[in-house]
Amino acid sequence: MKALVLEKAGQLSLRDIYIDEHLGTDDVRIKVHTVGICGSDVHYYQHGAIGLFVVRHPMVLGHEASGTVIEAGAGVKHLKAGDRVCMEPGIPDPNSRAARLGMYNLDPAVRFWATPPVHGCLRETLVHPANFVFKLPENVGFDEGALVEPLAVGVHAARKAQIKPGDVALVIGAGTIGIVTAMAATAGGCSRVIIADVIQEKLDLAASLGMIAVNVKRDDLNEIVARLTFGWGADVVFEASGSEAAVSKVFEPLCLGGRVVFIGMPPHPVPVDIVAAQVKEARVETIFRYAHAYPRALLLLESGKVNLKPLITDRYRFEDSIAAFEYASNPRPSSVKTVIEL
Ligand SMILES: [Zn+2]
Repeated sequence: MKALVLEKAGQLSLRDIYIDEHLGTDDVRIKVHTVGICGSDVHYYQHGAIGLFVVRHPMVLGHEASGTVIEAGAGVKHLKAGDRVCMEPGIPDPNSRAARLGMYNLDPAVRFWATPPVHGCLRETLVHPANFVFKLPENVGFDEGALVEPLAVGVHAARKAQIKPGDVALVIGAGTIGIVTAMAATAGGCSRVIIADVIQEKLDLAASLGMIAVNVKRDDLNEIVARLTFGWGADVVFEASGSEAAVSKVFEPLCLGGRVVFIGMPPHPVPVDIVAAQVKEARVETIFRYAHAYPRALLLLESGKVNLKPLITDRYRFEDSIAAFEYASNPRPSSVKTVIEL
């Protein structure tokens, strides 16, 4: 089948590849429809590695996908051929200790699309365990289906923050993950979501979605948060930038007893001011991908509480996948999500 293959750092080809996939009793075969390009895909393309994960053999990219079921294994009850679906890209060992404890995303044996050596989803068809495949509601299209993956990160982060009605949240970073986190926080009951970045075009989009956008190059974030919270501070701070400067100041806009959720992944270890956290008795949470977040993300889309359509800023055809990656490596500043349609 045709696939977008990362041969090695900086070298992509759209070519035939043989992937030995057997349809097991509990699997479905899916014709892929739409795939979102993620920062991690671009990073593998540019550098051939993320931390300890190194691309040593040609690997198909992509992990944000929607499609249509074309064949279902004999044991599959909840899906049939013709169903429009989205797929959760990380498959744990269901018998691992982490999986049995509900933390299947942390299972060291998890096989995650487009994380070497596992092939991703930028290919014509794939086989996937049906338990990690979710039917799209009638009113949710393939575009939004592909973006359930990043939305799941936001849902997981909002859940970890234990948002209460009326909370004020601050999200640092207005990339895709920052924006979907802000959306999940709003849907979760926040009265106000402030979002901070240094790129004005990204902030303009966030503002058009109802978020309070702050350009930290120009404005004093702590002062604005104080003004919007009767001087008290934000109940929740989501760190979604991974930037060292942002992490070092993450407790400043937080209220006493507030929660900080670390979502962004700094490329190197960065200093954190422990005393700044202690004097506020801050509760610190971290997330790694997500677990059990797809059903909630889909319900938010179906109910209209979250609308992902404005995030799709650029669209390419499968034949132009390489051009799509070249673009995503150096996108215009207003770009949020580039999708590829098969
Ligand atoms: Zn992603």
